[in-house]
Order: sequence, then structure tokens, then C-alpha cells
Amino acid sequence: MSSSQQSLNPLENAWKQLDIAAQMLRLDPDLHEVLKHPKRILTVSIPVKMDNGHIEVFTGHRVQHSDARGPYKGGIRYHPNVTLDEVKALASWMTWKCATIDIPYGGAKGGITCNPKKMSLGEKERLTRRYTVMISEIIGPRRDIPAPDVYTDPQTMAWISDTYSQIHGYSIPEIVTGKPLHVGGSEGRIYSTSKGAVICAREAASALKINLKNATAVVQGYGNAGSYAAMFLQQAGCKVIAASDSKGGVYSKKGVDAVKLNDHKNKTSSVVGFQGTEKISNEEILELDCDILVPAALENVITKKNASRIQAKIVSEAANGPTTPDADKILAKNEVLVIPDILANSGGVLVSYLEWVQNLNREHWTEDEVNKKMEAKMIKAFKDVYNTSKVKGIDMRSAAMVLAVGRVADAVKTLGIWP
Ligand code: GLU
Repeated sequence: MSSSQQSLNPLENAWKQLDIAAQMLRLDPDLHEVLKHPKRILTVSIPVKMDNGHIEVFTGHRVQHSDARGPYKGGIRYHPNVTLDEVKALASWMTWKCATIDIPYGGAKGGITCNPKKMSLGEKERLTRRYTVMISEIIGPRRDIPAPDVYTDPQTMAWISDTYSQIHGYSIPEIVTGKPLHVGGSEGRIYSTSKGAVICAREAASALKINLKNATAVVQGYGNAGSYAAMFLQQAGCKVIAASDSKGGVYSKKGVDAVKLNDHKNKTSSVVGFQGTEKISNEEILELDCDILVPAALENVITKKNASRIQAKIVSEAANGPTTPDADKILAKNEVLVIPDILANSGGVLVSYLEWVQNLNREHWTEDEVNKKMEAKMIKAFKDVYNTSKVKGIDMRSAAMVLAVGRVADAVKTLGIWP
């Protein structure tokens, strides 16, 4: 690859981010090599009886990157573009994320290459249950705990919980997090990723002396993470001027009502066509003049191509891997404060951890209890990363990676390589 090209392979980007941290930490090259690779990869071919009577075979993966700091943890993604390299990258980001927010988990990720938008509820249920059976030998409530990710939801988690419990003959809700409330889910989990991203944006705004009451925000992606992020930003006093999803975007200088926009999306399956807005493309939305930009969809949306045109002062990455390493350099030069994914979206796995602790103790905490614990930990992690970036004179992603990789490396060193 020539130097003018940039990689859009998430795994290469994850490795580049690790290289930067390793260099800053003067990490032992042997340890660097250990941290680069997942400990275990399981790829399965999942036969599913479709509604038309035919059997379709889907490819699924579960990648376990590190369990040095605790059991493997991470979501499961259903998307037509899922690849093994992507799942490997996402698994390593989970390791760094859990270390950044300082919860006792390692990192893992699952993915199935499929188009859930074109599947019936029954087909999705059969796919989920069969995948659960096929990965059941490597997951476990103290071993590897899945959760939702792109196009999987609490219902998907309920099927995983039930299938795993049926295999073992008793109820094991702690096998998975992000469950519906009445089957062991936690209060506050459904919006936790977004709440965390907005807490980070608020802390960043305060560091930059931006008053949220006069601030404008743009949200790219209006799924679970994006829609709640827009609603929390609005609650904090921000004017949400634009939002988008896979079908396109909407813009209004006066601001859109994030709650009504969510209702519109639920009714019509897209934000497009919302009253009082102009249509805007997915590319244009990222380049709007605003204070806070929240990428909340997929990888590689801020790249070398558009990074110099990003006008936001703060980027809070609710998505995983939205910014490439080349784009990071440009944003840093332009003094855009990027709150990296492994910090900005860590509220999700943080409340997953709280759900798991409740399940293990057969407890159910109030929404207030969960949110208080969550907010305190989020603020501490933001401050740790922000202070590290100031003291070392490095951008926030490098600062988060230095902290995270340092913590995981210490764990690997102390545990030792056996035999
Ligand atoms: N899929 C989410 C993430 O990327 C949540 C993972 C979890 O809760 O385990 O962080």
C-alpha cells in the first residue's frame, strides 16, 4: 500500500493505534506481539431454516482478544459487511475499552454476516439460537459474556440467555448483558452508551469552556446509540441541528426535536422526511458547522478525505472505530477534541458490567443507583484520559490507549506466560 493510500481495514487501523501506544509506553516488543493477536477465534457456519423452507448457511465469528484483566466481554453484531478482520478489531477495542473505564473484563466480539433488515423475527430467532449453541463451548458467565451491538437488541439477548440456560438445564441470565428488564436486564442499560457519550461531551465542553446551552450538535446514525445521544444532548440544552441514518440525513438550522424525530424514525424506519427539515447527505452531515459531532454508526466515516473539513469542536465517538488513524492526525492538528470510542462509548459495557454484577448477586438496583455508579466512573475515566493527554501533550485517543494498553500489559506481565 502506498503512503498516499489509507487503510479502511479496521484491523490495520486497530494495529496502528496499538503501535502508537506501544511506542509511547516503550512496550517490550514481545508483549506488543502478544497484545496484537486475539487469544482465540471461533468461526461457525450456521444453518438456518428460512421462512420459505430453504436452509441458508450464515458465517459467524466469536473472537476472544484478551482475558488478562477478567472474563472476555463484548457485543455481537449482525450486519451484511461483517468480516473476521472487523470482528478482530472490535474485540481488541473491547479490551482497551474495559481497561480505559477500569472494569474487570477482557475483550471479545461476535459477528454474523447477514442482513437482519431482510429477515423475519422467526429467522432472526433461529439464527441467534443456533449461533448461541455453536459458540456455547467457549462462552460462559465467568468466561465470555456477550451483549448487543449493531442490529442486535435486548430481544436477541433474551434468546441467547434462554438458549444457553436450556443447554445447561437451569436459568443463567448472567451469560449475557443488555437483556430486557423483566428477564434480568439492568435499569439504564438501554441508553447507557449514549449517556456515557454525552457525559464525555459535557466534560469536554466544560474543559473547552463551551456552554452546552448555546451549543449545536450533529448526530450521524440514529439507531439505539444515536437516537438516545440526540435526546440526551437536547436534554443538556444543546440544539440538535442534524441527524442521519443509512437512508440519508435531515438538517434544520433552528434545530430538530430529537424525541419527535425518534418517533418519526420508529414509524417510517428513517429520519428522512421529518417535518421542517431539509434533506442532507451522509457525507455533508459530518462537515456541518457545529460544536459537538457524534458519529454513532459504523467504522471509517471520518477519514483522510474529509477530516480537514470537519468543523465540530468536539467529536464524541459513540460508534466503534469511526475515525481512521490518518484522520486522527488531521483532527489533532486542527485542534478538534476527539473523545475516542474506547472512552466515549464505554458507558454501554460499563452498565453491562453493573448488570452482570446484579445478576451474579440476584439483585435488581434502581435506575438512580445504576446511573450514579455509572456517571461517577465515566467522569473519572474522562478525567484520567484528559489529564494524561494534557501531561503528555498527546491527543485523547493516544492518551486512552496509553492508559489502557499499559494496564493490560501490566496484567499480562504479572500473570506471566505459562508454561
Ligand atoms: N457492543 C457494545 C460495545 O461495543 C457493548 C458491549 C458490552 O456491553 O459488552 O461496547
